[in-house]
Amino acid sequence: MKNLLASYFTIFCTTLTFTFSEVSAAGNRNTAKKYMISAANPYAVKSGLEILREGGSAADAAIAAQMILTLVEPQSSGIGGGAFLLHYQPQKLSTHKDPTVQAYDGRETAPTSVRPNLFIDKDGKKISWHRRKAGGKGVGVPGLLKMLELVHINHGKLPWKRLFLPAIRLANQGFPVSSRLHTLIKSDKHLKNFPKSRSYFYLEGGQPLPVGYKLKNKILSNTLHLIAEKGAKAFYSGPIARDIVSAIKNTHHLPAEMAITDLTNYRAKLRKVIRSTYRQWQIYGMPPPTSGGVAVAQILTMLERFDLTRIPARSVQSVHLISEASKIAFADRNFYLADPDFINVPVDGLLDRTYLSNRSKLISPLKALGKVRPGIPISYVAPNQSADLGDNRPVSTTHISVVDGEGNAVSMTSSIGTAFGSRLMVRGFMLNDELTDFAAIPSANGNQKANRAYAGKRPRSSMAPTIITNKQGRLVMVIGSPGGSSIIGYVAKTIIAALDWGMNIQDSIAHPNFVNKNHKTELEKGTYLENFALKLQRLGHKIKIKTKNSGLHGIRVHIRGYEGGADPRREGLAIGD
Ligand code: GLU
Repeated sequence: MKNLLASYFTIFCTTLTFTFSEVSAAGNRNTAKKYMISAANPYAVKSGLEILREGGSAADAAIAAQMILTLVEPQSSGIGGGAFLLHYQPQKLSTHKDPTVQAYDGRETAPTSVRPNLFIDKDGKKISWHRRKAGGKGVGVPGLLKMLELVHINHGKLPWKRLFLPAIRLANQGFPVSSRLHTLIKSDKHLKNFPKSRSYFYLEGGQPLPVGYKLKNKILSNTLHLIAEKGAKAFYSGPIARDIVSAIKNTHHLPAEMAITDLTNYRAKLRKVIRSTYRQWQIYGMPPPTSGGVAVAQILTMLERFDLTRIPARSVQSVHLISEASKIAFADRNFYLADPDFINVPVDGLLDRTYLSNRSKLISPLKALGKVRPGIPISYVAPNQSADLGDNRPVSTTHISVVDGEGNAVSMTSSIGTAFGSRLMVRGFMLNDELTDFAAIPSANGNQKANRAYAGKRPRSSMAPTIITNKQGRLVMVIGSPGGSSIIGYVAKTIIAALDWGMNIQDSIAHPNFVNKNHKTELEKGTYLENFALKLQRLGHKIKIKTKNSGLHGIRVHIRGYEGGADPRREGLAIGD
């Protein structure tokens, strides 16, 4: 029966896909005059557009799109995870005041039961990356809904309830399994071992759901209905909260303790946005606990002394210089960045222009640096800490960019961690495995790591939702990406491509990815960058060719209106009116 429905639905969704690709291929719809949204899935984008057409705000559209993503991109993000969101509100030009950019932190927190040895087994050994990314131990208290509720209180125009309707509708009607979802189900080693996930993501015979299969999620529809009616508290207390706690406790794989009070006590936080300048632009980024905003700002500031407009995009020299700046930024990131509520993170010192101008002097156009040591920001006494690179999780997470009819913008990166998060499914959604972003080994050489696990702490992230304005505070660009710690490289590359090399937003996003995390220079497989490998090696780079799966979604603002870009490496779309 499931197979029959699948073939029927393939025909249906082929028509649907055609409609969407026609929209983007038409070329005149990825520019807009009034409002625009770009995200990783056509259904999410369409629901956001529906909200914008009703006069909804950028915040409203992002919430509606995110609820759809919980359903159609269960590998990437959802209400069982967390997010970082920047909100831009233009000031009336006559006031000559700065625009308001606010930074919302909806990052998962460690339950009160968590200790620094979270991922150390009873024999004192690190639980392997493969094992710890699934099961109960990696699950942090989800932050997405509390954060979105706060954002809605501050910036919403349409009723909260209204924003859930498209997702409730689609969960009941069913949506076609996308090629990416199918591939990720097929390649996942853990998913089928978790009973609820097994019955949802596989056919009765155990095969992964085929592309085009019409997947309904009535349980999620009920969950969303409850949250739509009662607000986020329906998630953080009552039956949903009890089911979350019980799924984590009773799983066969790395069971763990989360208390109901861990959920009821969760707070989304408004943080002080990171503001830096890059040539004639203002760059607004997300502060810690993500390392994304600081690292992107450092890379750009260090590159200011090179006139990138004169160095071609497609050149060994541009890859060399940007990789070197990235290497230096990662040295600081790996050492200093962690949850600022637990660790003194010298954000101002790390962004100080004199400090960065000195760090930039390490970059030689002729020779690559070896491994870079973290710097010591001005007036800062460096603690006895150890660096932590963290792990790479390249296939999940999602980014949404929106600009509404009044010129407000949202840049939100949202995640459940690795693909399908903890693989634990509760009431139709996936629980995150974001605690795996903590340092698995809490100290090295007798020095503690800033990013060691602790009760109530938020794990260091790399997510880097970004908003760019000109000197007068007018919106220039909204951008962000998934991609683990490579996010930092993806976002920096796209900003440079758009601002320095003058590429349109779509080409900036599609431009080949590369990043150096203070080790190898990673070049995107299957692109012309592979041909640069030898020349870069001659400059002293250690090279790694690999898939660099970004999911950049962005909007560029021009005098005539908006131009949207969606990453061709994913399944998304940018549309507006
Ligand atoms: N856990 C990751 C982080 O916060 C999510 C981002 C990603 O993997 O794309 O950095």
